[in-house]
Amino acid sequence: PARCAAVRTAAPVAATAEGDERRFEQLAVPPELVDELVEEALVWCSQHGLVVGDKNHPRSGKAPGVGLLHAPFALLPMSFPKVYWEQALELAPLFNELVHRVSLDGDFLQQTLARTKEVDPFTRRLLDIHSKMMELNKKEDIQLGLTRSDYMVDGATDKLLQVELNTISTSSNGLACGVSELHRNLIRHHERELGLDPASVVGNTAITQHAEALATAWAEYNNQSAVVLVVVQAEERYMYDQYWITVALRETYGVTTIRKTMAEIEAEGDLRPDGTLVINGRPVAVVYFRAGYSPADYPSEAEWRARLLIERSSAIKCPSIAHHLVGTKKIQQELAKEKVLERFLDNKSDIENVRKCFAGLWSLENDNIVNSAIESPELFVLKPQREGGGNNIYGDNLRETLIRLRKDGSNEIAAYILMQRIFPPASPSYLVREGTFVRDNVVSEFGIFGAYLRNKDKVIINDQCGYLLRTKAASLNEGGVVAGYAFLNSIFLT
Ligand code: ADP
Ligand code: MG
Ligand code: MG
Repeated sequence: PARCAAVRTAAPVAATAEGDERRFEQLAVPPELVDELVEEALVWCSQHGLVVGDKNHPRSGKAPGVGLLHAPFALLPMSFPKVYWEQALELAPLFNELVHRVSLDGDFLQQTLARTKEVDPFTRRLLDIHSKMMELNKKEDIQLGLTRSDYMVDGATDKLLQVELNTISTSSNGLACGVSELHRNLIRHHERELGLDPASVVGNTAITQHAEALATAWAEYNNQSAVVLVVVQAEERYMYDQYWITVALRETYGVTTIRKTMAEIEAEGDLRPDGTLVINGRPVAVVYFRAGYSPADYPSEAEWRARLLIERSSAIKCPSIAHHLVGTKKIQQELAKEKVLERFLDNKSDIENVRKCFAGLWSLENDNIVNSAIESPELFVLKPQREGGGNNIYGDNLRETLIRLRKDGSNEIAAYILMQRIFPPASPSYLVREGTFVRDNVVSEFGIFGAYLRNKDKVIINDQCGYLLRTKAASLNEGGVVAGYAFLNSIFLT
């Protein structure tokens, strides 16, 4: 039967104009095999740490080992054409370098975000810290960026388009590795029924490479007694994702990490006269932010004092305030304007390659686009300067928001950008959450992790570091795993 043939995909896809057979869809599961696979997968997750804290357990966000639940996942990987994979890999070091170069242009960051600053208090606080550092002429000799550039394939044009570039607290680098192992395992055990080659599931190097980048940064700081400080939220049900990185850091490199909230850093932190950040007397080599990206992470002035303390210190910040700001949606939109990339990149073909993956991005000062978006809101996404998922505005809500902003003649328009909505092709898949599965029509978002480490003029690391594939119901707007919309997935290269 056809089921036992080579790579089967779940539904036919429209070929491109050239008759090109590019496909990217969920691999199909023979229906009689689903229950068995789901059970095996659930056992595998439990035994291999593909877990998150269970929101139904009151202590699961505080105490490791308490209230664990498997991470949400798609049952089988998604077939994904090599061309997109290679394109995204090629782009990774370019985006790393771009982030760095833009971060050096403090005036560009301040000017681009000046109007946003007037209406968005969170962005204002970040920019205030950034201005202070500019006034102090603060130099960051050693820069560490752990990034993730997210893409979707646009079904209408077959183009890989960038959704956004994350420069702070890029997550799922731990759990993403587990899911490709899970899929390999399932495919290996059911090679005959599935007719798939487990070697086609792309392995994931995010844990080893991000741990290596942190360890190399730690070594550059050159203080054997210093630790890596992980900035965390007080409640973190995604802690096991972080532990994958920090445990690798300890076991492979012998580097100690300490976990602190911003409030704890304010209470226990200090600067030595030479700029060394100390927490309870322990020097800090690297500050690895896994919090601090959202207003909720700054409930009082204490957290802002902590952020400033960190920024003033000589510790390596992952990211620095400037790298953080480069990741805002407003900067993304500015970089997509004509002739802006040319300010930061020299090589023509690099510029072309980067620009090719830009979707339509506009400021709300563009009346024509605002009109189009009011007319056809389903073709756009309205984005504030926020991270972490669940903040964007879609559909009727988008239309009403634009009409309101226009009526008010409000400066508040500067808080948002408009983006072309990308429509990846949808296909059916089995999605597993909280021990049960549903069959749904799904689309996927594909992220490539990156690492960038630089000491003065020397670029020590500039690389891609594995990937994240997130799959969500096609009917949903948003797609974060942490935010609870998406399912971890892996890539089956075709
Ligand atoms: P955040 O920084 O909060 O993750 P994103 O820009 O990544 O913000 O948007 C969150 C989610 O919204 C994405 O993961 C994706 O599912 C969806 N999304 C964002 N931009 C687009 C777009 N242009 N087209 C379609 N979906 C989008
Ligand atoms: Mg983001
Ligand atoms: Mg995102």
